[in-house]
Amino acid sequence: MSETIERIKCLIIGSGPAGYTAAIYAARADMKPVMYTGMQMGGQLTTTTEVDNFPGYPSGTDGNALMEDLKNQAERFGTEVRFGVVTNVEFSTEKGGIHKATIDGSKIVEADTVIISTGASAKYLGLESEERLKGGGVSACATCDGFFYKGQDVIVVGAGDTAAEEATYLANICNKVTMLVRKDYMRASKAMQHRVEKTANIEVKFNTEIDEVLGENVVEGVRAFNNVSGDKEDISATGVFIAIGHKPNTDIFKGQLNMDDVGYLITEPKSTKTNIPGVFAAGDVQDKDYRQAITAAGTGCMAALDAERYLGSLV
Ligand code: FAD
Repeated sequence: MSETIERIKCLIIGSGPAGYTAAIYAARADMKPVMYTGMQMGGQLTTTTEVDNFPGYPSGTDGNALMEDLKNQAERFGTEVRFGVVTNVEFSTEKGGIHKATIDGSKIVEADTVIISTGASAKYLGLESEERLKGGGVSACATCDGFFYKGQDVIVVGAGDTAAEEATYLANICNKVTMLVRKDYMRASKAMQHRVEKTANIEVKFNTEIDEVLGENVVEGVRAFNNVSGDKEDISATGVFIAIGHKPNTDIFKGQLNMDDVGYLITEPKSTKTNIPGVFAAGDVQDKDYRQAITAAGTGCMAALDAERYLGSLV
């Protein structure tokens, strides 16, 4: 049976750059935030060793070190960081209502405001070789990792707008980009398809899938196969970018918060407000366009300010 353990002013769900930044601002505003970290304490950046584009680190930094710094900064102002997963929520639709969150299926926390920063997870193909070479040349983020493949040959897997965007981004940096498209057409918008077609160093291979990513510790290429003829070919490359979509971590909010058809939370323009008063969303969970640590941090700051203003409007 669930048991209510406390009533707090501000609950933060998720411990990525959005959550910790929200925590820093909320704690400094005396909202005494409590954060539940989820299974991945520190979020997605804890899976990478090199972060070169977060401002303030002229020589770059390690993802884990960056997240530890953010955690320490949030705790310095009084954020209570707890390991735990929010397994259920019951949001009040009334302004000034109490929102309930169940932690690990048992304890219930009641909160005046909730900041959701549960992120979005990249989808992968599910190959053993792909899993083994994550961080060794397999990536799901061209903006994050493309620079490491400057002047080299890379592969992009996918056929939608994101894949087309990643391919054209990489084409500016890399020697050659080979796009592998599973069907005999691309799903990307016509405008994005034209950009791909007009880019001289992008080659698109249709009806093509990956059998295996080649390489022991670092990527050396892929073994691809044509899903119509069955023909196999090895394509050499040092980077493989998987761009087949992301899954926002929003299952527990279904039926209560507005989301798009993929599951990204919908917030009001220029705000982190969701459709429920007192519930705010920040970071990748509400952002399918940028998905960067710095944009997540930026919206985390916005969410704390929005939550503080909401509390102020109740008195
Ligand atoms: P996330 O970092 O995804 O954190 C989500 C948090 O929510 C996690 O702590 C998780 O445990 C928690 N959570 C989820 N569900 C629950 C729940 N039910 N209850 C409680 N907690 C929950 N960006 C850059 O700017 N530069 C880079 O160099 C860069 N490199 C990257 C390398 C890799 C390998 C990956 C995967 C991403 C990289 N990114 C990079 C992207 C960046 O990591 C994300 O944009 C950023 O982490 C998003 O932050 P977030 O706070 O929105 O969510």
